[in-house]
Amino acid sequence: MSVVLFTLGGTIAMAGAGPTGVVTRLTGAELAAAVPGLADLPLQVRDVQAVPSADLTYRRILDLVAEAGAAVADGATGVVVTQGTDTLEETAFLADLVWPHPAPLVFTGAMRNPTLAGPDGPANLLAAVRVAAAPAARDLGVLVAVNDEIHAARYVRKTHSTSTATFASPNAGPLGHVIEGEVRLLTRPARHAPLAVDPDRLANTRVALHTVTVDDDVALLDALAHGRQGLVVAGFGVGHVPPAFAPALGALADRMPVVLTSRTGAGSVLRHTYGAVGSETDLQRRGLINGGLLDPYKAKVLLRLLLAGGADRAGVAAAFARHG
Ligand code: ASP
Repeated sequence: MSVVLFTLGGTIAMAGAGPTGVVTRLTGAELAAAVPGLADLPLQVRDVQAVPSADLTYRRILDLVAEAGAAVADGATGVVVTQGTDTLEETAFLADLVWPHPAPLVFTGAMRNPTLAGPDGPANLLAAVRVAAAPAARDLGVLVAVNDEIHAARYVRKTHSTSTATFASPNAGPLGHVIEGEVRLLTRPARHAPLAVDPDRLANTRVALHTVTVDDDVALLDALAHGRQGLVVAGFGVGHVPPAFAPALGALADRMPVVLTSRTGAGSVLRHTYGAVGSETDLQRRGLINGGLLDPYKAKVLLRLLLAGGADRAGVAAAFARHG
C-alpha cells in the first residue's frame, strides 16, 4: 500500500509572511513532515508546481491526471493532490471527468496558511492520504477531502472565502467522513464513463461564462462569445434571463452550444414550469441546453472538455443530460 502525493502550491504550502504576504514555497516533503501521523503511512512525494491555484490551467491538470494514472499503473494505492482551494472545485471536477481508474484521486488544500494559528493543512493532508489509501474509496472517481469530510468532485463547491468549513456539496452532502482516522463512506454515487480529450484541440477550444444581473447589458454577449466555441449562462433562479437576452441567446445557440445554469449555487434549473420570455421553457425552445444540477463553473468545465473531445451539439446535449 502506498500513496503518491503531487503538490501544486496553494495556501497549504505558503510561508514567509513579510511585507508582501505569504507565497507558495513549501515542498511536499516539508508539508508531510509537519503532519503528525503521516510518517506511519507510506508516501511518495512529487513536487509538480508551486503556484497559487489561480495560475493552474486545464493542460496542467490533464498532465497531472496522466502522471497520477502512471503512478497508479506502477502500483500506487491512491493519489493525493494538494493545491489552492480557490479553483479546486473546477480542477477536481475536470480531473473527475477524465480519471479512468478505480484507485482514488483525492484533492485537498487549506484555508489557513502554515504561519497562522491552527492551520488546517496538516489535518487535511492526513485525511486525504487516509482516503487515498482506503479500499472503501475505490471506484468513486475524484474525491475532495477537507475538514474531515469526503466530497465527490462532481458535487463539491467552495462556499466561503475564509472558513475552514468552506467545502460543501449543497445538492448531495458529503459522501463520507474521516472519523478517528477511519474512512467512513455513507453513499456511493455511480460513476460516468471518462471523457476522451485531445490536448491540442483543448488549446483552441474556448468557452465563455456570463452571469446575468438585474438590468443587465445584452450588448456584452456578442463580445463575450466572439472567438469562443461555447457559452455557459448563469441565469437567475431556476434558469431565467432578462427578456432582451432571450433572442440574443437564441441567436448564439444557432452558432454554438449555449448551456443554461443557475447562478444561485444550489439546485437545478427547471425544464417545464415557467413560460415568460427569458424563462427556462422559452430559452430551451430557442436552443439552449439545460445544465440541470451542474453549477456554472462545473458546466463550463464539462462544456470545454466535450468540445475539445469533438462533441457536436447533440453530443453536448446528451452529455449534459447525463452529468446534469
Ligand atoms: N489563493 C489561494 C489559492 O487558491 C487560496 C488557497 O490556497 O486556499 O492558491
